[in-house]
Amino acid sequence: MADDIDDLLDEVEDKFVKGKKRLEKKTVQPKSTRRRPEDDEMDKIIEDICGQNEPAIECNSVKKIPSKTSQRRPVISKCFPLSIGGSSVTKGHGNSVNKRSCDTIRCTSCDFKVASFDDFDWDSSTDYLFLRNNAPDFERLKSKLSRRKGYRAYCCQCSHIAVNTLTDVKQLPVKWVCGQH
Ligand SMILES: [Zn+2]
Ligand SMILES: [Zn+2]
Repeated sequence: MADDIDDLLDEVEDKFVKGKKRLEKKTVQPKSTRRRPEDDEMDKIIEDICGQNEPAIECNSVKKIPSKTSQRRPVISKCFPLSIGGSSVTKGHGNSVNKRSCDTIRCTSCDFKVASFDDFDWDSSTDYLFLRNNAPDFERLKSKLSRRKGYRAYCCQCSHIAVNTLTDVKQLPVKWVCGQH
């Protein structure tokens, strides 16, 4: 019996001590090894977040500046120089690089939009009174329009002109301005 009890005590001691050691190994080692990399990772994450936030704020502030300038651009969408051209010249918003025949011209004298007719020229008898009574209706104007390939005939209610090449409006005896695009 005594041997049995000793054996049992030994077994209990072994289990208790080993169990303690196991517990110590399980509890102490993880505490010392796991915390440090976690802290390091957190530090890295915090550094990453902080590092990304600073340039992100700068980017936003930089983006706001061009957005303000891009909002201003449509306001300055007038042809400069203002040009008109023959029937082969592309219509649209023109500038010194992309020269085009403006298609939104308004007359500051009669306050009418300038009409244009491809491959037509004005009869020499066209006058102010005729334009005032008939512009900009092509059906009523066509009695004084004659077919002329390459030309584009322009008129408001007070002026008329036909050109076959790109022409600066400043050189013409008309008070026409670009009405924006
Ligand atoms: Zn224009
Ligand atoms: Zn006019």
